[in-house]
Amino acid sequence: MSVIIKNTLILTQDDKRRRIKGDIYIEDNIIREVSAKPIDVEADFKIDGRGKVTIPGLINLHTHIPMTLLRGYGDDMVLEEWLRNRIWPVERKLDRDSVSAGTDLGLLEMISTGTTSFADMYFFEDTIAERTRKAGLRGFLGFSFLDFGTPEYRFDELFPRCEDFVRRWKDDGLITPTIAPHSTYTCSPETLERCADIADRHDLLIQVHCSETQHEVHDVWRRYKARPLEVLRKAGLLNDRTILAHCGWITKGEVREIARHGASISHNPVSNMKLATGGFTPLPELFKEGANVGIGTDGPASNNTLDMFESMKFVALLHKHHRWDPCVAKAQEVLDMATIHGAKALHAFDRIGSIEEGKLADLVVIDFKKPHLTPCYDVVSHLIYACRSLDVYATIVDGKVLMLGDDFLTLDKDEVMERSRREAERLTGEIGCWGSSVSSSPSC
Ligand SMILES: [Zn+2]
Repeated sequence: MSVIIKNTLILTQDDKRRRIKGDIYIEDNIIREVSAKPIDVEADFKIDGRGKVTIPGLINLHTHIPMTLLRGYGDDMVLEEWLRNRIWPVERKLDRDSVSAGTDLGLLEMISTGTTSFADMYFFEDTIAERTRKAGLRGFLGFSFLDFGTPEYRFDELFPRCEDFVRRWKDDGLITPTIAPHSTYTCSPETLERCADIADRHDLLIQVHCSETQHEVHDVWRRYKARPLEVLRKAGLLNDRTILAHCGWITKGEVREIARHGASISHNPVSNMKLATGGFTPLPELFKEGANVGIGTDGPASNNTLDMFESMKFVALLHKHHRWDPCVAKAQEVLDMATIHGAKALHAFDRIGSIEEGKLADLVVIDFKKPHLTPCYDVVSHLIYACRSLDVYATIVDGKVLMLGDDFLTLDKDEVMERSRREAERLTGEIGCWGSSVSSSPSC
């Protein structure tokens, strides 16, 4: 397949952060040419880029994608109560059908909102991989470990099944298998050590929740006389392949420790604010120490979207407000987090994260011909502070057009939404607002 985007404003996100008005030519899955001069070739897809901005696809560094089915199912609750009374009882009933439906729904949402790569950690990850591959997104998918097992496997089955998962997907062009011990409060040091062993043997990325809440830090300290990061380090899980989700409650010493080990952080501000975790991932200190920080939405049950445009804006605003300093978390820095830094965390910067000849063609075209984007003095400013995810006009992953205008080319939008409504009803026992013509629920 070949694609040409004509007369677009290209935010390359290359070393010099060059902005080029011109054309992009994609052949197979590679960006073949980026030029300020017209590229005259015939292509299978021709996209008129006038009035549109083309950026590298956004990278969601932390999510639990099938939780789309639990979007809005338990809001305004304390984290521990929310998990215990709403999320965990439903998750026990998950099966391949529900995970498949929830994943397709999340993929649809990510395609429509400009995300081209995502890091996931959940259950039935094989099913998530199959659906992701079929829809055409790039997934860095974590096989999850919990000491009490998962809805899919008993605890003792997790280790051999993880090895199967890695073997199955390790040579895939779109799917990268990773390992995901859930956290230091749900995995014992022995479990963490065994995960580190698998990660080392297969050279896997490691995804793990770390210091999300104050309660977690106190709980882990009570058990081990060590903070979560220290527990991970001792287990052999702190290195340049590690992606730490949250880190809202870390110390200055831990900031240095994370930078020294070359680990990355997924900063998930919307989820943190919604669950009122209270901690602030210390961005200025992390940047000062040279730590790599990307952006994640976290699961759509605690966000409640997979919208990276929204998350980028929250990153910029949250830290300015918290520090009483409008100069922190600048627009360009935030865009870097959602593109380049995400790619670095995934050890994929040689392939994705910027628009450069020879890189994989993961691109998003955004329509700037909108009232809320007029006038436009600085395109990066608009991307962070004014753009909405609904401004995404086209999403291209691995050289394949997944969405153009209102058309999804790899998923049937209406079928996916209908199937996920049915699966959500089956899981929760709640009909939802569109289940009948007359709603009995006062909230609908
Ligand atoms: Zn999470």
